[in-house]
Amino acid sequence: MSVIELIQSDITQLDVDVIVNAANSTLHGGGGVDGAIHRAAGPQLLAECIKLNGCPTGEAKITKGFRLKARFVIHTVGPIWHGGNSNESNLLESCYRKSLSLAVENNCFSIAFPNISTGVYGFPKELAANISIREVQTFLFTNKSIKKVFFCCFDSENYFIYLRLLNKLS
Ligand code: ADP
Repeated sequence: MSVIELIQSDITQLDVDVIVNAANSTLHGGGGVDGAIHRAAGPQLLAECIKLNGCPTGEAKITKGFRLKARFVIHTVGPIWHGGNSNESNLLESCYRKSLSLAVENNCFSIAFPNISTGVYGFPKELAANISIREVQTFLFTNKSIKKVFFCCFDSENYFIYLRLLNKLS
């Protein structure tokens, strides 16, 4: 039974313990997946986010899921792509690692990730996919409490990149 699963879906519809939000550092909501999550979770999500006082790039913070099926939302701030020499890869790695750690601390067994930073933040999709897969696998190797990790792709380009990379591994 595979722990990692690939799906093409709107992440707000998933019935998992926690979904991850690709937020911006204010945590006050935005476009893309962030906007979709806030719309689906309802206004209480923004109220809780405002109390968190923002989040630095590469870090993660957790809130409740409110109207979502997911019990929690982990808000992580991916790096903006500046060409690759601004620590972007390490920061993206950190987003996945810290989100998984927070999920474990909050007794979550299933978690879904969007393709962090690959929208308006401009991170190259293939590189981001490689980083995310490697980081999740490394984490799962030592942390056995997470039973399911979904890579939830929205756009087909990301979906087919993950399909190819994950098929190579199996
Ligand atoms: P970032 O600022 O981190 O680049 P975006 O929200 O612009 O964040 O894009 C991140 C990824 O989220 C993109 O690959 C985009 O296709 C995807 N995305 C947008 N809406 C949704 C959604 N409802 N569910 C899942 N993924 C989504």
